[in-house]
Amino acid sequence: MPTTINAYGTPQAGQPLGPVEIERRDVGPHDVKLDILYCGICHSDIHFAGGDFGPLPVSPLVPGHEIVGIVTEVGSEVTRHQIGDRVGIGCMVNSCRECENCRRGEEQYCLNGHTLVFGNEDRDGSFTQGGYSRMIVANEDFVVRVPESLDAAAAAPLLCAGITVYAPLKRWGAGPGKRVAVVGLGGLGHLGVKIAKAMGAEVTVLSRSESKRQDALDLGADAYLATGDESTFSTLANTFDIVLNTVSAPIDVNAYLGLLRLRGTLASVGVTTETLPLNVFSVLTNERTLAGSQFGGIRETQEMLDFCAEHGVTADVELISADRINEAFDRVLRSDVRYRFVIDAATLE
Ligand code: NAP
Ligand code: ZN
Ligand code: ZN
Repeated sequence: MPTTINAYGTPQAGQPLGPVEIERRDVGPHDVKLDILYCGICHSDIHFAGGDFGPLPVSPLVPGHEIVGIVTEVGSEVTRHQIGDRVGIGCMVNSCRECENCRRGEEQYCLNGHTLVFGNEDRDGSFTQGGYSRMIVANEDFVVRVPESLDAAAAAPLLCAGITVYAPLKRWGAGPGKRVAVVGLGGLGHLGVKIAKAMGAEVTVLSRSESKRQDALDLGADAYLATGDESTFSTLANTFDIVLNTVSAPIDVNAYLGLLRLRGTLASVGVTTETLPLNVFSVLTNERTLAGSQFGGIRETQEMLDFCAEHGVTADVELISADRINEAFDRVLRSDVRYRFVIDAATLE
């Protein structure tokens, strides 16, 4: 018998979220059941619930993909987790496991389509519902360990924001002697600063205005420049090995490519549905690379959590009750977040 639980969701794209009831499946042989403690609010939740990616595939839609919880039940065949373990679930809860990319542990690029933790049809035909809820049941292979040394609420944003910046920083070689620019100081951006510093890189924050200068320096950035000041782009021309774009809106790709030194990479993780113009000379010059990256595989997510535990990296969070989710969405849209809202799931009772 499926279990009915309390959650927070929206009936239709762009409508406010409110209390809803959803069903969770019974624990299957390879499933674990989690009591959710905390769930972060990622800008992707807002894009999705706001209809930026089209009409909602299911009503109500319960967002949330930065989940930390405690295992309360395990299926008969489960080997990776035990009752009482503190664990996390991020963007994905399933993939085909058979394609070339899944076999490499890069399930985020499953050639048969990964299953997102919410708003996707799962392989059994049901629709997934996310972490703005009290409880979730998921296959053990898509559940990771959250090291005990990390504060549970401040670790929740690592499950999406953390892995989304860790993967491209590692892929493109952030480390000692490398110069990294982080564009946009929001949820992803502030973790980009902390993780790039922990990797040993020199980090510059590029934010629209001067307003986040002190915050950026407090987060560990070595330098801060405002992109609203046109001279920033000439001052920093040919400077960085990696420019990590975390902006939730279209950017001037050519202007940011111009900041890269020889063989530098513009690693873009921020989402826009607009098509961006590219001047080929922006990449011919300095043999630059324009790259994208989508969250990360399960193995790398665990590696990132262990790296964050080793370096004491967590998000700067503002803990909220569920009845403040709509207000939090509005504040994220106004860039008035320092630097991640996290829902206390106990307030969903
Ligand atoms: P966020 O907290 O809202 O941060 C986004 C930052 O972008 C803002 O703090 C702001 O930085 C900047 N910004 C916002 N609107 C802007 C505009 N119109 N022009 C220029 N800059 C603007 O969002 P987030 O949760 O970090 O997510 C960032 C983006 O990454 C979103 O689009 C999200 O959907 C996407 N995302 C992608 C993946 C992936 O797998 N690739 C995973 C997670 C999230 P300043 O105030 O410093 O300028
Ligand atoms: Zn996210
Ligand atoms: Zn696959």
